[in-house]
Amino acid sequence: MYLAGPERLELRRVPVPEPGAGEMLVRVDAATTCGTDVKVYRRGGHPRMLCVPGPFGHEMAGTVAALGPPAAGEPLPRFAAGDRVVVANSAACGICEWCRRGRENLCATLAYLNGAFAEYLLVPARFARASVHRCPAGLAPAVAALAEPLACVLHGLEIAALERPAEVAVYGAGPIGLLFVEVLASRGHHVVAADPNPGRLDAALGLGAATVVQVSRDGGEAERVRQRAPTGDGFDLAVEATGSPAAWWDTLASARPGGTALLFGGCPPGTSVPLDTHRLHYSEITVKSAYHHRPATFAAALALLAGGIAAPAVLLSGERPLAEVEAALCSMMRKEAFKVVIVPPGAESTAGHRR
Ligand SMILES: [Zn+2]
Ligand SMILES: [Zn+2]
Repeated sequence: MYLAGPERLELRRVPVPEPGAGEMLVRVDAATTCGTDVKVYRRGGHPRMLCVPGPFGHEMAGTVAALGPPAAGEPLPRFAAGDRVVVANSAACGICEWCRRGRENLCATLAYLNGAFAEYLLVPARFARASVHRCPAGLAPAVAALAEPLACVLHGLEIAALERPAEVAVYGAGPIGLLFVEVLASRGHHVVAADPNPGRLDAALGLGAATVVQVSRDGGEAERVRQRAPTGDGFDLAVEATGSPAAWWDTLASARPGGTALLFGGCPPGTSVPLDTHRLHYSEITVKSAYHHRPATFAAALALLAGGIAAPAVLLSGERPLAEVEAALCSMMRKEAFKVVIVPPGAESTAGHRR
């Protein structure tokens, strides 16, 4: 499936690629749609992740179909044909300053991989080297594909660096917000979720939120949300998981004195948000931001999924064949689906054995 421009998807029939030196060919068992896909589909590309026309989809799990000859000077491949794998959608260079500091998501030449909505995915050598993870035994491919969004959330939580049981507000109860809710609640934090959509708030309660607040899409809700904090003066951590400037503002205004705001959702380029300098300064609010994931959080996400978490049963709203990616994105835009499993021809339906 190719994205050809804004709201233009094309299903193209192309020969199955032959893996070259150091490359790997993976047969896709399941891919999942993501909020980023909706954003990229509407805008017709992404400044960093995807140029059009180009292959589309970035969350997947599959089976190694073939390996190219080993690249010169490279160690022997870690995988063999038939291995079940999950391929992360980015690969760092491994040698720049940021990579050496363990901040691979900031790699100066971070490369992105798209093409999960397909029968086969050709994995370039850089990805085959460091971005292919073994799929834990027994983990359904559709669930394993959630490693990508969950890895982003775990990266965000590492950045937030909560040291003790905390009171946390999460703005946004889409897939990312709900993953934040479940992981935070499972770690013993008191979570208040805020979203305009009552169905999504119910999902947040099901995943461990202590309280939910229905807020308007236009923001200006920080006062109401802050009042739901057990201490009444705001939150140790406020997480923004919507990508809207109004929620950035509310998140900044929801941290209690000495608290932290984690700004997670990417807004469109050129967006700016005003700051309440008085509050930021006199209440010592720490402002943090998190982008994407790192190999370590990707591996941690797979381990967490293999351990069994509840979110997949909530987030995977349905299943559609490859030809229906557009319908899947439309159902997400209508808020009828959180995420849809895309099953390529020949792959087994995942319905019934998701966990
Ligand atoms: Zn994603
Ligand atoms: Zn690098």
